[in-house]
Parts: sequence; C-alpha cells; structure tokens
Amino acid sequence: MDKYRIRPHTKINLNEFDPNDISEFKGDKEDGNKHTAKLNAELEVLQEKLYAEHKRKVLIVLQAMDTGGKDGVIRNVFDGVNPQGVRVASFKVPSALELDHDYLWRIHSLSPGKGEIVIFNRSHYEDVLVVRVHNIVPEDTWKKRFDHINDFERLLSDEGTIVLKFFLHISKDEQKERLQARLDDPEKHWKFSVGDLKERALWDDYMQAYEDVLSKTSTEWAPWYVVPANKKWYRDLVISTVLVTMLKKFDIKYPENKDDLSKVVIE
Ligand code: ATP
Ligand code: MG
Repeated sequence: MDKYRIRPHTKINLNEFDPNDISEFKGDKEDGNKHTAKLNAELEVLQEKLYAEHKRKVLIVLQAMDTGGKDGVIRNVFDGVNPQGVRVASFKVPSALELDHDYLWRIHSLSPGKGEIVIFNRSHYEDVLVVRVHNIVPEDTWKKRFDHINDFERLLSDEGTIVLKFFLHISKDEQKERLQARLDDPEKHWKFSVGDLKERALWDDYMQAYEDVLSKTSTEWAPWYVVPANKKWYRDLVISTVLVTMLKKFDIKYPENKDDLSKVVIE
C-alpha cells in the first residue's frame, strides 16, 4: 500500500491517480471484505494494547469531497474496536467562538490523548481547502498555513502521536452517481444537501487546492495517502492495511503489573 503514500516535497497531479485503482489486492470485492474483516480483528487487539499501554496516541485525518466516503470508512475500518479508546471529531463550519481563535485552536483541543485513537472527520485542512476555494481569508493568510500545519503535526508527532492522513479520492462521475442515489432514495434524503451541488461546481478548484495540500504537507512525521475510493471495499481495505501495518511497526505492549502477581492468592 506504500504506493499510495505521498513522498515529501513531491508535486502532485491528481489526474495521475486513478480513483478506480484496485491493483494492490488480488481478489474481488468479497475477498476484499473478508480481508478487511481480518484486519478489523487485528486492529481490535492493537487498539486494546494501545489503550492499556497509555503512552502513544494515534490521529487519523480523513479528507474527501462530499460523498467521498468518510462516514463509510469510520464505520467499516473501526468495526469492532472498543469505543472506549476511539473517538471521532467532526469539524463543521467554525462557530463564532472558534473563529475568535486561531484555526488550530479547536483542532488541538480535540487531538488524541495517551492511549487514544482519534479520527478527524474533516480537519484543519479545511482551512486551506474550503477557506481557499471560497476566499474566506486572503491568500496571504492561507498560504502561511501549510507551514503552520507541518509544524503543528511535527509537535504532535514529537510528543508521541502517530499521524496518518487519508485523502479519499473519488472521481467527479462517481460523485454524481452517489448524489443521484441519495436523491433517488427517500431514506437517503437526510444525507443530501443542496449546498453540496455548489461545492461540486467548484470541483476543479478543490482538486487544485488538494494538490497543494498533498504536495506541501505530506511529511515523514505525518504522511498523506491518496486512497482510490470509487470502490468502497478497496478504499476500506487500503486504509485498514495502512493503519494496521503502521501500528504493528511500533512495539505496543501491555504494561507490566506493578505488583508481583505470582504471589497473589485469591481466597
Ligand atoms: P456529511 O457527509 O454528513 O455531509 P460533512 O463533513 O460534509 O458530512 P456537513 O455538515 O455537511 O458535514 O459539512 C460540514 C461543512 O463544514 C463542509 O462544507 C466543510 O467544508 C465546512 N467546514 C469545515 N471546516 C471549515 C472551516 N474551517 N471553515 C469553513 N468551513 C468549514
Ligand atoms: Mg456534507
């Protein structure tokens, strides 16, 4: 899955990434889902150790265009993990209070603590994506943010956070199909937002903004992965694989009990 990781300082052209790619897995959808289920079981054990160890922290950043599948990833990749140690933080349009502070204020406060896995459903990257595309702040302001973000993620990493960032890459056609499916099914109407059509019209601007994000903020300490996301099963498989592989690289251990348990007798 390394092929989806963006090397630092690489100029990215998203046209060169195929959202339909399924080339890193030999098997069909059914095999893929079985494989993801196995990874879920591995993640469950790793997460329990992480929680017990109470030392490292894990931050997963999910970014995508509307209908890109952030919710599906949260549901499928974390299926089975103990909710006690996992938290989702969703970032919407900032509140008045949030806007009174710098853009990383709300982000930092929801970052993971020791033993915790936190999934960011949208993130500080909105402050160089939607904010840029809609000219919410001047260019001079958002341009400086790439450096802030790299430094901020460096801080998290230096202080024990494993940071992984995923861009769920769907095609514009796939988005059309998914929006249409929401429109056609009354049970999916709640997910349909007329505002999404306005963002869709700005697709090319968003792609350019994402290319800059990927080119400037994929670092050794907080890498980006461009995940082919037209096929939902493959998207989940890629993210599960990256996450489990990464966590296995760290020697996460259950802590020793501070007492000598060999002498304990339970009456
Ligand atoms: P869903 O998949 O359920 O639609 P969502 O993440 O799209 O989930 P919404 O409430 O539809 O949630 O949208 C949140 C909106 O908030 C997005 O349009 C996003 O661009 C916007 N947003 C997030 N952060 C910022 C920010 N810092 N400045 C301006 N807008 C932001
Ligand atoms: Mg939305």
